[in-house]
Amino acid sequence: MVLCYVKEVLDLPSLFPLSYWEKMSDSGLFPEEFWRECGRRRLPGFLIPATYGGLGKTVGDLVEAVIYLTMYGCGTAVYPLLSNNMSSLVINKSGTEKQRQKFLPRLAIGEYIMGLSITERESGSDVLSIKTTAVKQGGKYVINGEKMYVNNFDRATHMLLAARTTPVERAAKKSLGLTLFVLDMKSAGLSFSELPKMGTNYFRTGVMRLENVEVDEEDVVGELDNGWKALAHALNPDRIVYAAVAVGSALFAIKTATSYAQERKVFGKPIGAYQGIQFPLASLYTETEAARLLTLDAAAKFDRGEDASVAACLAKYFASEVVFKAVGQAVQVLGGYGYLRESGLERVLRDIYLLRSGPITQELALAFIAEKGLGLPRSY
Ligand SMILES: Cc1cc2nc3c(=O)[nH]c(=O)nc-3n(C[C@H](O)[C@H](O)[C@H](O)COP(=O)(O)OP(=O)(O)OC[C@H]3O[C@@H](n4cnc5c(N)ncnc54)[C@H](O)[C@@H]3O)c2cc1C
Repeated sequence: MVLCYVKEVLDLPSLFPLSYWEKMSDSGLFPEEFWRECGRRRLPGFLIPATYGGLGKTVGDLVEAVIYLTMYGCGTAVYPLLSNNMSSLVINKSGTEKQRQKFLPRLAIGEYIMGLSITERESGSDVLSIKTTAVKQGGKYVINGEKMYVNNFDRATHMLLAARTTPVERAAKKSLGLTLFVLDMKSAGLSFSELPKMGTNYFRTGVMRLENVEVDEEDVVGELDNGWKALAHALNPDRIVYAAVAVGSALFAIKTATSYAQERKVFGKPIGAYQGIQFPLASLYTETEAARLLTLDAAAKFDRGEDASVAACLAKYFASEVVFKAVGQAVQVLGGYGYLRESGLERVLRDIYLLRSGPITQELALAFIAEKGLGLPRSY
């Protein structure tokens, strides 16, 4: 269906078949064996330069690998892999040399698990309105606040955390006054509670409360009060790799439906011989291929150092729409069997709902495309 040239991932689907992902999703356990194997191959450090122990590959390569892995059904289990790569992009670009040496080699082999912790109860899409504060006291910052949707809160070693160091009323503009910190998840003053989810059950997600959490001055990533700039470097690749998850999951659904249609006989013929089955699948395959090309185009723009912001939103928006149609149609092709958990499709259907709201919602992606792509007035 789609060939992958990233040799480091080619045999992973045979080592971790569909039954493994179903077991992991049902049990709600972190896929430790998969993570270890990824670490051994330095996949969490896909984008980390070889000098810091990573694979030194591009976002385009990562997209290829993610499409391939998700096409074989691992779905959103790739998220920790992506968050290590996105965090390392930020540290590599904006961190100090000391931070690069401390974090990148350990992120590359999966010894460290790092996520981005920005969203709060009252600020998701309106990310600049976060309320968590970091106040300088001596050589430390004291952080207070609450973060929502902290993935892997029980397994992650660190978070890249955004906090206000200057109140919004005193900042020259809303995007200033935010600072990015590397937070050690073992810090005193942290407490967590779980947020049970519809899907993505390969990692736990929770609320993180920060009460007088002390962070060293040297754990500031990028410039003080200009954390948005440091974070912005990962925003487009983040959208692009989640588009890749959507593309691969759509291909998984189409592949599942196609092989079922070749086997299942109704009225004396395989259902795949009926145009009523063929045409929607062919049409969705066409749309998925278009989504794949949009995603690769956005990745190529980023890798060339061009502005990838509109291209990333086009890819993320379109791929997230296509995957919904593809999984829905696959359920239909499988008839009653599609409704059974053992078909494997309901797991994917529950997982992909997240792609409509993260890392940017479909509405905000459209608002951005309207503004930056079409030149219409900013609507948010
Ligand atoms: C499982 C999970 C994992 C996550 N992981 C992370 C993570 O690792 N790090 C992190 O920081 N965050 C994470 N998030 C948060 C996620 O990025 C946010 O949920 C997302 O950005 C949307 O924010 P919100 O939920 O506050 O929605 P809101 O901003 O409250 O929006 C609600 C609805 O209103 C719409 N809307 C808002 N403004 C406009 C507008 N101007 N025009 C049109 N429509 C609008 C939105 O599109 C959405 O449909 C995660 C969320 C989930 C569920």
